[in-house]
Amino acid sequence: MKLCTFSPLPSGPARPGLVTQDKGVIDIPAALGASEGTATMLGIIRAGAPMLERLRGVEKSGAPRIPLADVKLHAPIPRPPKNVFCVGWNYLPHFEEGAKKLQDDRKLPEWPVFFSKVPGAVTGPYDTVPFHSHVSTQCDWEVELGVIIGSGGKDITQDAAMRHVWGYTVVNDVSWRDIQRRHGGQWHKGKSLDGSCPMGPWIVTADEVDHANLAVACRVNGVTKQESNTKHMYFKVPRLIADLSAGMTLEPGDIISTGTPEGVGFARTPPEFMKPGDLLETEIQAIGVLRNPIG
Ligand code: MG
Repeated sequence: MKLCTFSPLPSGPARPGLVTQDKGVIDIPAALGASEGTATMLGIIRAGAPMLERLRGVEKSGAPRIPLADVKLHAPIPRPPKNVFCVGWNYLPHFEEGAKKLQDDRKLPEWPVFFSKVPGAVTGPYDTVPFHSHVSTQCDWEVELGVIIGSGGKDITQDAAMRHVWGYTVVNDVSWRDIQRRHGGQWHKGKSLDGSCPMGPWIVTADEVDHANLAVACRVNGVTKQESNTKHMYFKVPRLIADLSAGMTLEPGDIISTGTPEGVGFARTPPEFMKPGDLLETEIQAIGVLRNPIG
């Protein structure tokens, strides 16, 4: 199933929806009745497997559809309750292009690099990413597979890890490179400017996606900048979940952005960055495409 957070146009409160194959959206609180479990995407995730069963019933029912063209899509979890977990250097060619550009002699990592983006950075799949020209001119792109945690847990083993995955979404880990570099090597600030985490267009539930073999791509103004496949991830999703949850509880609705492949702007010769008026497109096979103007 594809599950989104939407508002009816021209205006209306955000609510969760079920995206149907005929390009419609079923209003979940209207179909199932208003409750804590149906009011938000987080409520749906926290309600676990029984809620997914109810939603499968709704999908097959004759519940009214709103055409996708008549709604505004928000990020599927518009305001995550905590930071979005991120993984650095998780595709080897990206690790190598970074090492070459930054002229360091780093060794292949034994452990994943984790950092995070603040919840306020999250923005919708078609929203404008504001260009913060007063603080940076180096706005870069990073297509990434987003993993949504379903049932939480601590010290999750790699063998058990995939049972904790609720679904997948598309993330662009938009990065402001000069800020990322200038704060003592801590990436947090340069990864967290407002609007720097476009996400969506929806979450595809885990049962429908082979997360380990998905084409990923990023385009700027229609020109392909990144093109790879999640099978090239260095640390695979089970390892990421095991390491992240070691001694630190993961909770329903937590988001892990799993790293970007090669082709980012800063590593190009000459370096390339986005500017106002550009169109950033972020695509993952079997999930969808984000289209974010830079403004
Ligand atoms: Mg990244």
